[in-house]
Amino acid sequence: NNQVILRDYVSGFPKESDFMVRTSTIRLNVPEGSNAVLVKNLYLSCDPYMRSRMTKLEGSYVESFVPGSPISGFGASRVLDSRHPNFKKGDLIWGITGWEEYSLITTPETLFKIEHTDVPLSYYTGLLGMPGLTAYAGFYDVASPKKGEYVFISAASGAVGQLVGQFAKLLGCFVVGSAGSKAKVDLLKNKFGFDEAFNHKEEQDLEAALKRYFPNGIDIYFENVGGKMLDAVLVNMRLYGRIPMCGMISQYNCEQPEGVHNLFCLIAKRIRMQGFLVFDYYHMYPKFLDTVLPLIREGKITYVEDIVEGLENGPAALIGLFYGRNVGKQVVMVARE
Ligand code: NDP
Repeated sequence: NNQVILRDYVSGFPKESDFMVRTSTIRLNVPEGSNAVLVKNLYLSCDPYMRSRMTKLEGSYVESFVPGSPISGFGASRVLDSRHPNFKKGDLIWGITGWEEYSLITTPETLFKIEHTDVPLSYYTGLLGMPGLTAYAGFYDVASPKKGEYVFISAASGAVGQLVGQFAKLLGCFVVGSAGSKAKVDLLKNKFGFDEAFNHKEEQDLEAALKRYFPNGIDIYFENVGGKMLDAVLVNMRLYGRIPMCGMISQYNCEQPEGVHNLFCLIAKRIRMQGFLVFDYYHMYPKFLDTVLPLIREGKITYVEDIVEGLENGPAALIGLFYGRNVGKQVVMVARE
C-alpha cells in the first residue's frame, strides 16, 4: 500500500522534500468487531486548508497531520469491504480518506455515499464535493445575493471560485474574477461566462484595477485570497456590501500574516464581512445536489479540473496550489475506476 507521508511539520512554503512515498502492507478486509470501511482510493483532492494541517495546531477546526504518518484529505473511493450498515462492497463514496492506495476508514459516519454516477467521479472531490458545497453555501447563504448586483471573486478559476462565478451569473449578477495567468483569465471569460476578468499578477495597482471594472463599486466580494487584494477591495465596496470570508490563501505560508489597513471601510460603508466554514453546511448537501445536478446535466454549469495521475505526483500537485500552478480544481488520480 503506497502512502504519502509528511516527514515533519512545515514552515513557509511546503516543498516536495517535506513528503515521501512509503510502502506498507494492509489487510484487504475489515477486522471483525469494528464498523470500519475498507476502500480503494480513486481520486484525491488537493485543498488549500491542508497547508494548516502541516503545522502543529492547537484548538483549530482541523487536526494536524502526524509527522511520519500518511496524510489525509477528501477523496472519492470504491468500497472493498465494510462492516458499517450504510456501506457495502462495490459502493462509491466520498469523504475523508488517506493519501494512500487503500484506506481503512474507522470513522465511516463522515462518508457520503455516491448515488449519481452519470457525472465524472472526480467531480465528488470538487464540484459535487466539499469545494462545491463551499461555493453554494458561501454564495447563496452568506453573501445574500440579489439579481443585478456587482460581484467580485478572487482565485476565481479555482475549485470554489469558478462555481461561485457561475452561480452569480445564473442569478443575473455582473461578475468579475481575478486569476494568476492569461490562460486562467481566458477560462473565466470564455468558459465560465464571467463578464470580465483580470490577471492580478499583472496589475501594479489593484485598487485602480477594481475601479476600472467596478466604477460604481462592488456589492459582493467572495474572498479567497486575503492580503493586498482584500485591502484593495475594501475601498471599492458599495454601501451595505457583503464579504463572505471563504479563505485567505495568500497568507497560509506567511510566518507573519500581512496587516489589513482599510477595515474602517466596513464601518463607513456598513459592510457585512462574515467568515464561514463548509463543515457547518453538510446538512444542506442533499439540497445542494438537487440544485446542482440538473444544472450540470442541462449544461448550465461547467467545471474545469486539473488531474495529475499517480499518488507519487500528489505532493507536487498539492504544493502547486500555493504557486497557482493548478488550472481549475486540482485532483490526483490514484487508480482508474
Ligand atoms: P484553488 O483551486 O483556487 O487553488 C488555489 C489558487 O489560489 C491558486 O491556483 C492561485 O490562483 C491562488 N493563489 C495561490 N497563492 C496566492 C497568492 N499568494 N495570492 C493570490 N492568489 C493565490 O483553491 P480552492 O478553490 O480549493 O480554495 C479557494 C479558497 O477557498 C482558499 O482560500 C481555501 O482555503 C478556501 N476554502 C474555504 C473553505 C471554507 O469552508 N471556508 C472550504 C474550501 C476552500 P491564481 O493563479 O488565480 O492566483
